[in-house]
Amino acid sequence: MENLILWLSIALLALALLLLTIRNSEKKQAKGGAAEAVPAPATGQADYQFSARPQSLPSSDNFHLQLEILRQALGLTTAVLLWAKPDDQQMQILSVASLRDDINAEPFPKGSGIIGGIRPERPEIAVCPVPHHLAIPYYSTTRKTGGFLALSIPVTAAVISNDKNFPAASAILAVDRENQAPWTENERELINLTCRKLSQDLLLGRRMEETSRNKEAIHQICLGMQELNQVLGLQAVFEATIKTVKQLTAADFIAISLLENGEHRIVKASGHKSGHFDNLSFPADDGLVGQAIKMRRWMPTTANYQGEFPVFTNTMRIAGLESLLILPLLKDEGEAIGALTVAGRRPDMFPRERREILEVIAFQVATKIELGRAHEKIFQLAATDGLTGLSNHRTFQHAFDNMLHRALRQSTPLTVVLGDLDYFKKINDTYGHPFGDAVLQEVAKVMAGASRKVDLAARYGGEEFALLLEDSDIAGARKQAERVRKAINGLEFDHEGNKIKISMSFGLAAFPQDGESKVDLVNKADQALYRAKEKGRNMTVCWHEMRRTE
Ligand code: GH3
Ligand code: MG
Ligand code: MG
Repeated sequence: MENLILWLSIALLALALLLLTIRNSEKKQAKGGAAEAVPAPATGQADYQFSARPQSLPSSDNFHLQLEILRQALGLTTAVLLWAKPDDQQMQILSVASLRDDINAEPFPKGSGIIGGIRPERPEIAVCPVPHHLAIPYYSTTRKTGGFLALSIPVTAAVISNDKNFPAASAILAVDRENQAPWTENERELINLTCRKLSQDLLLGRRMEETSRNKEAIHQICLGMQELNQVLGLQAVFEATIKTVKQLTAADFIAISLLENGEHRIVKASGHKSGHFDNLSFPADDGLVGQAIKMRRWMPTTANYQGEFPVFTNTMRIAGLESLLILPLLKDEGEAIGALTVAGRRPDMFPRERREILEVIAFQVATKIELGRAHEKIFQLAATDGLTGLSNHRTFQHAFDNMLHRALRQSTPLTVVLGDLDYFKKINDTYGHPFGDAVLQEVAKVMAGASRKVDLAARYGGEEFALLLEDSDIAGARKQAERVRKAINGLEFDHEGNKIKISMSFGLAAFPQDGESKVDLVNKADQALYRAKEKGRNMTVCWHEMRRTE
């Protein structure tokens, strides 16, 4: 662990040095003093050495980690971070996550192949599918590629540095995959956010150099970044933030609050009486937190506090605090998405240097929260059926595995119910496919409404649905299936003034009586469903009853 931290520190120090040297060399050139050769580590080569360490730095090469997360989330073949220093005509790979084995380790000219399409006036290119004549220069061989997207990374983002003299290096995030489908809005959002996170990380070295030359401060930021970069889900980001801030400040109270629908809500609190604060919502402009969000700057100005102002809401004060620092969580465009509140019982706990470190961390936290949200959206979309919003077939299979595992371990019953709409083809043929779609949506609502929190309702396929009922014996499951069947039979649809009614047949199999494996249980529920169809439809058949009546 210590080794990892040490490597990360060294890597980030190298990056800080690199950025510093680029800036210095630029200044020298501006003064006309080009005679002095730039030392070797300042060239892109140093970057490459940094990125060429994935084997020795598997989890701490933070660019690689982010690229790999993006690759997996979007089913990409490759996600690559390309880099060229300002006066360099060659681009090279800074870090790459790929399934392919023909990654081009050599630098290539900036304008070459498909990447050449990126210009200042056109910072993004998206091509689906990639025409054969357009080479992807980070590969050494040409293979068929479905979709490609490349984005120019703003390495001089104003949010980190207002120094307009800081030279614009070029960095590009490029991704490709086999799938030829156009990039969706959600996928683009995730790619854009990853791009922003990479941009922040690229600039962090410079910020650290500005903030402090103190090795200890850099080490602490590294620790925080490492903690944050290793997590993905929102809850995990909140926890990593609290842990990092605790390590950095020994604060007695830490809270993360987010703006949601015009209110701010404390999504995570830790320390001094935090139980009172968890999940509380406040009007967005209340208290010092409201001020920090509105002003987009840290509050209160002295970072000391005698309880003179309310922190979250005008009707609630936190007693016994002497130090307070509220940092807005800012998006790239400067908009606040929430705040990080850090407080302590001793005075002067957040001197300038500490505050600046926390500001860097707050930037990272804001982007990680946005990334976490985008990832959750992508995962959510991948898990649900687009037409009905129910869990899709894949999620059903996955949930069934988990529930069966639990049922086996805890010796609890589990029932699978398969339902299939009766004569649905006729409904489609008579009233049209859009009408059929609307029917499926209404049926899905009934299925979802019928399931308790622990159950799962899924669209199993076309006009087939499934319920997984945990902790339900056969009699209970049968009752529930019957309730759903009756509710569906009670639905009334309108087609050009005509009232249309539908029905659904159900088959049911239960663990452990009817079978112990997923395949066996699904087969038996399917057999029972088939029997319900045979017997006239609009009914529920349990597999064991079917056996008895045979
Ligand atoms: P049965 O009572 O035996 O189940 O008869 P059925 O007509 O429901 O069964 P069949 O399998 O012959 O037809 C299923 C129909 O479901 C055919 C297909 O067009 C329709 N379907 C499947 N998916 C969708 C969908 O997403 N939207 C619409 N509108 N129809 C769909
Ligand atoms: Mg069917
Ligand atoms: Mg059917």
